[in-house]
Amino acid sequence: MRAIKLLPDGLISQIAAGEVIERPASVLKELLENSIDAGATEITVNIAQGGLKLIRVTDNGSGIPAEELPLALTRHATSKIASQEDLHSITSLGFRGEGLASIASVSYLSLISHQPAGKHAWEIRSEGTRLMSPEPSSHMAGTTVEVRDLFFNLPARRKFLKTEATEFAHCEEVFRRMALSHADITFTLRHNGNLRSHWQAAEAAERIGAVLGEEFSGAATWMDEQSAGIGLQGMLALPAYSRATRDMQYFFVNGRFIRDKLITHALREAYRDVLHLDRHAAFVLYLAIDPEQVDVNVHPTKTEVRFREARAIHQFIYHGVSKALALPRSGVASSSPV
Ligand code: ADP
Ligand code: MG
Repeated sequence: MRAIKLLPDGLISQIAAGEVIERPASVLKELLENSIDAGATEITVNIAQGGLKLIRVTDNGSGIPAEELPLALTRHATSKIASQEDLHSITSLGFRGEGLASIASVSYLSLISHQPAGKHAWEIRSEGTRLMSPEPSSHMAGTTVEVRDLFFNLPARRKFLKTEATEFAHCEEVFRRMALSHADITFTLRHNGNLRSHWQAAEAAERIGAVLGEEFSGAATWMDEQSAGIGLQGMLALPAYSRATRDMQYFFVNGRFIRDKLITHALREAYRDVLHLDRHAAFVLYLAIDPEQVDVNVHPTKTEVRFREARAIHQFIYHGVSKALALPRSGVASSSPV
């Protein structure tokens, strides 16, 4: 055994990165969350070679003041919470202050930002754990983060990455989730220079149709259930549009995509009478709830949550969805093209 020593900060970041940055899609998720939290109305993503070579996200959000650029790449530095009270009612997608620092520690990163009030843009670069000084740059109001050669300094990790096509498919799935949960933002995605998706800001139902296709939205019914300060809205595919896998199950809590046993169970129960045992439901649902009623600080990737009133949420979802599935069957069938 060696003596106990505090690890160097760069190594701590790389260890933390191991939890949140698994592949290019995890980088994209962190960057898109930041752009959304910055209030962007337009987000453009450029990816090269499945994200193994390049992931670039440009937004027209609030930007970062020049003097804060080094902090943006520092661990546990965030503008989103300041106290324990804030932690108990999170309204932003990010709050851990670890995303950029983690990504930076395992890639070549460039962060260019221009605050509307600032004279011009500033850029800060890092090469793995080495951080450079900010330099003047040019950029419209907003921010661009460019991540190159992910895991260049962690060859063991890089070996776990799959083919370009597979990595890009994961990136596309992350992109779809963000676009589904933020219909009011215009999203553009390019891969190797080719336009893959361009979705103008729209109403939620319209965005769902654009992202998942008319076949889905034509076979789905819109639901809207409100009770005691909780809201559940979205589209439920009717049984005729069941799936062999769970590939079309999108559940968002306050704008965040989550996977949750309790919610999955409530939905399975609600669909049970109308769906064959080996088939899976398709839906896009948005739960809106007082942030104090839900804890998102459960896991570093923030895809798990804990509800204060778990039973009540389960009942609410089960009853709301059962009702929506029972009522419209005849009505929607007549207006449905399928
Ligand atoms: P977190 O999102 O948890 O705060 P990050 O490491 O992802 O942590 O980002 C650190 C900080 O950098 C954020 O709190 C925010 O102030 C700033 N930031 C990051 N990306 C952007 C962006 N696209 N636009 C404006 N500010 C940003
Ligand atoms: Mg973040």
